Amino acid sequence: MKIHQIGGMGFDSNIYLIIDEVIALIDAGTGMNFETVKRNMNKFNLKPSDVGLIINTHCHYDHAGGDRDFVSAFGCGVEIHELEARLLREGDQVITLAGGFGRRLEPIEVARELYEGDRIKLGEFTLEVLHTPGHTSGSISLYEPSHRALISGDTAFCGGVGRTDLPTSDIEALVRSLRRLSALDVEKLYPGHGSFVERNGRRYVLEAIELVG
Ligand SMILES: [Zn+2]
Ligand SMILES: [Zn+2]
Repeated sequence: MKIHQIGGMGFDSNIYLIIDEVIALIDAGTGMNFETVKRNMNKFNLKPSDVGLIINTHCHYDHAGGDRDFVSAFGCGVEIHELEARLLREGDQVITLAGGFGRRLEPIEVARELYEGDRIKLGEFTLEVLHTPGHTSGSISLYEPSHRALISGDTAFCGGVGRTDLPTSDIEALVRSLRRLSALDVEKLYPGHGSFVERNGRRYVLEAIELVG
């Protein structure tokens, strides 16, 4: 069982692919590099209909802008925290930062609104939804306890934290969220940008607290 990074070019967030009984994508990038991402996926010999869902760590255009491309190519359902579902459904341009990327966010159908404590069962992997506001109010992290894996979106990077000067950002909430993540047993850390690590992930969460705390 492995989490594969299949995207993260240019302005795109990292895009992770989890191949399990249910195949899941974590974040979709901007969509600007969709053809390359699709080619990367082809290496895994997946049929489009195999892809079950996209989980967005938050609403920003660099994470959710590509949702529509994936949905039309694979027929998968989009999942995002309930506080940000409306922004995708209504095609918000401001809080999603679509305008900042020189793009328009077209409305995206959301299949499931996620809440703190939800469990997303993929098979061997079960992802626990942790509501970790700070970078945005509806940011989530996903924790897989048996693999000690944390997917942290823009809440914590391997050497940094997400911006807190954006609409719905809250630096104090970010500090609380990071403290909460630091209490987890994290070996593997898969952030929304930059490199991921598969050893000593918790070290980077603690470093992130030092940076903002
Ligand atoms: Zn981002
Ligand atoms: Zn972001």
